[in-house]
Amino acid sequence: MRNLLALNWKMNKTPSEARSWAAELTERYEEGNAELAVMAPAVTISTLAANLPAGVGLGAQDVSAYESGAYTGEISAGMLADLGVQYVVVGHSERRDYHGETDAVVAAKAKQAQANGVVPIVCVGEKLDVREKGEHVPFTLEQLSGSLEGVGTDVVIAYEPVWAIGTGKTATADDAEELAAAIRGALEQRYGKKAADIRILYGGSVKPDNIASICAKPNVNGALVGGASLKVADVLGMNDAL
Ligand code: 13P
Repeated sequence: MRNLLALNWKMNKTPSEARSWAAELTERYEEGNAELAVMAPAVTISTLAANLPAGVGLGAQDVSAYESGAYTGEISAGMLADLGVQYVVVGHSERRDYHGETDAVVAAKAKQAQANGVVPIVCVGEKLDVREKGEHVPFTLEQLSGSLEGVGTDVVIAYEPVWAIGTGKTATADDAEELAAAIRGALEQRYGKKAADIRILYGGSVKPDNIASICAKPNVNGALVGGASLKVADVLGMNDAL
């Protein structure tokens, strides 16, 4: 399975800055083994659609749980699809924590995405206190189960231990594989043989110098990257390492 290198810019880059970033990437990018896709702030998506190099995918960071109507400020999956968006991150820990998103909301968002031909990247992962109690596997699998309620197989899972996000504390490749294997098992129970084709990403302080060892693990099929997605040089470094 081809690794997916999903670049989550979070709340960074204006449309002008996105244009410069895309221009620099276009100048220096050579398609490698991994599939590259940018998870962009909604207002930069059109700019990126017009300026990303061929072969680089486009994603969003959130989507409404509703189809259309009186939901002021929301952006629907149909709107994203119309802009050429292929992926959307749902259930990122920052949205769960700061915007109160429950597993049920995450599942509703993932279903909206799929109904519009956009592949949801469903994020799960434990906080430090859960890991210290040794409960990271059952916690994460329960979160996964709730977040996939009614969701089909055209999905990507991202395991992002919250304690490793933006902290410089990367999980070891073995930590990532422990959860990725457990997630694969849960996907097999839910989806049967199709689980083998679902990509499981690791996220949390991924950089050019650690991405290769993490993605070499059998159940890890790529990375969801925050900080190291902002500079083209780091993106090229990660792309080369895969
Ligand atoms: P960092 O790579 O900055 O740790 O962020 C990870 C993340 O949250 C990606 O979604």
